[in-house]
Amino acid sequence: MATPGETLQLFCDAMLAGLARWLRAAGYDVGLAPVSAMDRAILDLCRAQSRILVTRDRHLATHAGTGLRVVLLRANGLDGQAAELTAALCIDWTCAPFTRCLLDNTPLHRATPEELTRVPPRARDLPGPFRACPACGRVYWPGSHVRRMQARLLRWRACDWPGPGE
Ligand SMILES: [Zn+2]
Repeated sequence: MATPGETLQLFCDAMLAGLARWLRAAGYDVGLAPVSAMDRAILDLCRAQSRILVTRDRHLATHAGTGLRVVLLRANGLDGQAAELTAALCIDWTCAPFTRCLLDNTPLHRATPEELTRVPPRARDLPGPFRACPACGRVYWPGSHVRRMQARLLRWRACDWPGPGE
């Protein structure tokens, strides 16, 4: 069975760059609009790639037209945005943690011996996994930063979010 992270493809507007990063950390396939992106380009891309548009831009949402699913968020803060999105799309915040690059959305692979040389010596004894991004070369390991992010993802998963329409 496919995980939600494999089936749900999202696209965030530039105002939601922080949320996009957290969705990628959870394992979701999330495109992110550049700050300069035109509304039409965003909508065309979502339609072409069958992505759900996640936006805080009411104007953009009302111009989406038919054939495009849009989730309009109202919250300013990250926790509130996560709550709204979870209610709308049943997000599983721990579906495939740290399997995508937070910066460019590329699926990570197991770090090669050469890539492992970029891990700081103090982190090399960690149990792993050590993963790397084939696009930008960034290496990910379960250091304190990743562990703090994982704790927040777990907290979001454990939350009793309100369901749609409640
Ligand atoms: Zn990358």
